[in-house]
Amino acid sequence: MSEYVPTIGLEIHAELKTATKMFCHSKNDANESRPNVNVCPVCLAHPGTLPVINREAVRHVLRVGSSLGGTMADYTEFDRKNYFYPDLPKGYQLSQYEYPLVSGGVLDGIAITRVHLEEDTASSLHDEAAGATSIDYNRAGLPLMELVTEPVIKSASEAAAFARELQLLLRYLGVSDANMEKGEMRVEANISVGKDGVLGTKVEIKNLNSFRAMERAVEYEIKRQKEMLERKESVVQETRGWDENRQATFAQRTKEGSADYRYFPDPDLPSLKLSEISEYEKEALKASLPELPWERRKRYEDMGVKREDAESYIRDPELGAFFEAVVAGYANEGVVLASNYIANDLVNIIRDSEKRDTGLHNEIPISAFYFKTIIDMLLKKDISSRAAKDILLISVQTGAEPSKIVKERGLGEKMDTGAIEAVARDVIDKNPKVVGDLKAGKMPALEFLVGQCMKQLRGAGNPEVLREVLKKLI
Ligand code: MN
Repeated sequence: MSEYVPTIGLEIHAELKTATKMFCHSKNDANESRPNVNVCPVCLAHPGTLPVINREAVRHVLRVGSSLGGTMADYTEFDRKNYFYPDLPKGYQLSQYEYPLVSGGVLDGIAITRVHLEEDTASSLHDEAAGATSIDYNRAGLPLMELVTEPVIKSASEAAAFARELQLLLRYLGVSDANMEKGEMRVEANISVGKDGVLGTKVEIKNLNSFRAMERAVEYEIKRQKEMLERKESVVQETRGWDENRQATFAQRTKEGSADYRYFPDPDLPSLKLSEISEYEKEALKASLPELPWERRKRYEDMGVKREDAESYIRDPELGAFFEAVVAGYANEGVVLASNYIANDLVNIIRDSEKRDTGLHNEIPISAFYFKTIIDMLLKKDISSRAAKDILLISVQTGAEPSKIVKERGLGEKMDTGAIEAVARDVIDKNPKVVGDLKAGKMPALEFLVGQCMKQLRGAGNPEVLREVLKKLI
């Protein structure tokens, strides 16, 4: 018997970071908490007003397209997507239908169908108790990018990985903060389950406001559809929501076909011939791209950085910048050593400080310069790895310069014999019984004394040297 196979396609909307809205001069300010402040006659759809295209928003989408290796449209236009809902003051959404800005491209191994530009709707706040809905038009008309993948994703984890990589890309490009919890990035998953190469009925899941919710919802939906098919029931084409409390999807509405939207080109906006606009030239767009996440991943791999450490530098801008500053000028040996101390010791210190619960290391408690001093001393074998850990902690706690800590606390490997002898004498004085054992020929006693010396030296001493000094003194 052949297996049921899931097929998943994603539609991801992301609010773009621009100074003003998509078709007017109202501010695009995600942090505005007062409702209906960033509004004007255009985004409130007063009669007689006319939209103007935001060129920065167009450029943002084209840069995304450029980094995905997609094809930029030469001719493009905006279309009206007609539907009636209170969050849509014009009665239609300005979107793109036949001529998206970008077609094709690949991200994280997943083929992209298209990337287009449209405007966001207002936000609705439902007051259950009052039985009323209030509408905030601050969001109405914000530039919104929509990316659609081919239906080629095969699992919930693959879908989540794709969405994470897109979020990272949008942040690298500086085109969106793409915070899912804030609704700046919104994921919809189309899922169908079929067998023998025949696709099943497509069900769309909305309201996925975290990667975790997304992964769980997709998993749940695959299972639900499989079980229905096994019971010989038919799956209904519909839109479903995700109920976080019940950890289940639920039916919301049956899906409209695109014919219901009566798309047609907006007569108030000009069509664009992108090749005639210099700032949208392919080469100019390409030149504007920063090092992309997957390029950085490759570079770190070549440098010998552990994969999961590399991932933390790639995803955490502060930690990534810190790593770059520390390893500048190092050969691979230094890079690997520094990376181990950053990803383990430093990250543990940061975690222990319990100052953060976001998973992001916004504040690094030591300068890259001080940290580099510790790694330099390690590379020159001036200090032991045990001492390096202590120096790091002391420097973080006191703000003291690492080489000064080494001098003051005698943590150097190459300490003068006088200091080592002083410690050895002290240990001998404090352990007369063990010294007696040693004199009686019990050799393990020597190792105990060496251990005591190392403890006093905070791990800085060389055991070989200590053995010699102890033997000489006893
Ligand atoms: Mn859309």
